[in-house]
Amino acid sequence: MSPGDPANLTAAELDAADPLATLRDEFEFPDGIYLVGNSLGAMPKAVRQLVNTELDRWGTLGVEGHFSEQTPWKDYHELVTTPLANLVGGRPSEVVAMNALTVNLHLLMVSFYRPTPERHKILIESHAFPSDHFAAESQIRQRGFDPESSLVLVAPRDGEETLNPDDILAAIAEHGDELAMVMLPGVQYYTGQVLPMAAITKAGHDVGAMVGFDLAHGVGNIELQLHDWDVDFAAWCSYKYLNAGPGAVAGAFVHERHVNDQSLPKLVGWWGTNPATRFEMATTFDPIPTVESWQMSNAPILPLAALRASFDIIERAGGISAMRAKSERQVAFLDRRLDETLGDRVNNITPTAMHERGCQFALRVTAGDGKRVFSELEAAHVLCDWREPDVIRVAPVPLYNSFADIDRFVEIFDGIVT
Ligand SMILES: *Cc1c(COP(=O)(O)O)cnc(C)c1O
Repeated sequence: MSPGDPANLTAAELDAADPLATLRDEFEFPDGIYLVGNSLGAMPKAVRQLVNTELDRWGTLGVEGHFSEQTPWKDYHELVTTPLANLVGGRPSEVVAMNALTVNLHLLMVSFYRPTPERHKILIESHAFPSDHFAAESQIRQRGFDPESSLVLVAPRDGEETLNPDDILAAIAEHGDELAMVMLPGVQYYTGQVLPMAAITKAGHDVGAMVGFDLAHGVGNIELQLHDWDVDFAAWCSYKYLNAGPGAVAGAFVHERHVNDQSLPKLVGWWGTNPATRFEMATTFDPIPTVESWQMSNAPILPLAALRASFDIIERAGGISAMRAKSERQVAFLDRRLDETLGDRVNNITPTAMHERGCQFALRVTAGDGKRVFSELEAAHVLCDWREPDVIRVAPVPLYNSFADIDRFVEIFDGIVT
């Protein structure tokens, strides 16, 4: 048996052979089959303890918590730097946990979208997550340009569901000298398609554009090598595959070659200035020579504590490569079970090639009313989500979903789609 090939094995056999199986016990779940980690990851039990530790320190130390000997709050954000760097394939100087995702996209666009009358376009996808679309559009307006002429949308071909990577590369080449920035998802939120980030980055750089990625659905799901791919910037949230809870503290990546570039425009605050002199309260900005110079405010300790709880589990899993190895087995298993059972009634619009997908499936019911099927899945305690116009998203997450979850989901689904 090759571990990558679950052909013919049962869910029980696959669970028995799964080295990550016991990590499921580290999480709390609502009743039912939790397949919606693409939207909100399940709660690590240790979150309570880590958050309580900080609450206790607040209660007993008060303001001294900022400067206490152990894990002082003024440096607390640094506790997640190495785990974040490992997850996204970045150097410690390139990653920081701060703010929320859309906020970080804006802050990074302030630095990396520098339009001129000749070069003013931003390329995004036509079906971008609305927040990303709004952010790009508003940045264009803010600089005195018009989305009508400055926003370039790449779309799937007629009759196709996913973007053709060749079309993205061709659009980048076509807009060439007029293209200031490319901002695309690493993993598309609707279809689950993984885009070729290294090739897109190279194509953008070839025409002189900056290239950034929204990794909301990429981080904690697929392997990333942002530094080696030469990506200029990236941002992500931590409440999906990083299981850090609703409204979790987001993350940002800026490539090493930019982190100490004082010519970049930047919105700054006191948390971006040299920590050694920060509390002297001088008004001369002395930027930290890392991505931390983009930090504006003091860090949110309770959400960071939750993120640390999640990183403890990821580390015990053996990191993203071990998670992805299991994820590929789960994806292959769900592919097979859907094929055997529902092949004639359900269509997965997610790409079939493993390198073009993460753990999320975008299922379209071809026999009957998809929205009704979704409601019945909910009633049967299958937690998944509906995305307009017509897709049911399900995501087996390797840290906490079992092969039995997948099997049971397919059985229930089969009973509903008639
Ligand atoms: C989840 C998601 C968001 C959400 O943005 P927030 O700023 O975290 O509210 C934005 N963009 C994409 C692509 C997402 O998947």
